[in-house]
Amino acid sequence: MADCLFCKIIKKEIPATVIYEDELSLAFRDIDPRAPKHILIIPKKHIPTTLDISEEDKDLIGHLHLVAGEIARDEGVADQGFRLVLNCNKNAGQEVFHLHYHLLGGRRMGWPPG
Ligand code: 5GP
Ligand code: ZN
Repeated sequence: MADCLFCKIIKKEIPATVIYEDELSLAFRDIDPRAPKHILIIPKKHIPTTLDISEEDKDLIGHLHLVAGEIARDEGVADQGFRLVLNCNKNAGQEVFHLHYHLLGGRRMGWPPG
């Protein structure tokens, strides 16, 4: 999608610190990290919110979770623990309308999230 920030990062039109890429997904460091490890994991397919996921995306969503686990291990936060966050729409604070998981780790997380 032409005016989507994360689509531009996928197309390398905007720079990002990419730590993982495959044919279906991309992962890069958040520009405003809220934890020692704060990585965004996105599908290359433009899906605005979790409400826009369709039947045909089921494998893709599963794939993103496998990627998250791989990154957590690579970043050294798997054993200590980490959080995967998906914000949907206004009350959750979604700012970028291209589906993304926040992988947060490297510190103790509060519960419930603020
Ligand atoms: P949301 O609030 O939509 O769940 O999360 C959007 C995230 O994208 C925020 O954590 C924000 O810091 C991050 N972000 C916004 N613009 C950029 C950018 O240009 N580059 C990177 N790497 N992260 C961004
Ligand atoms: Zn997009």
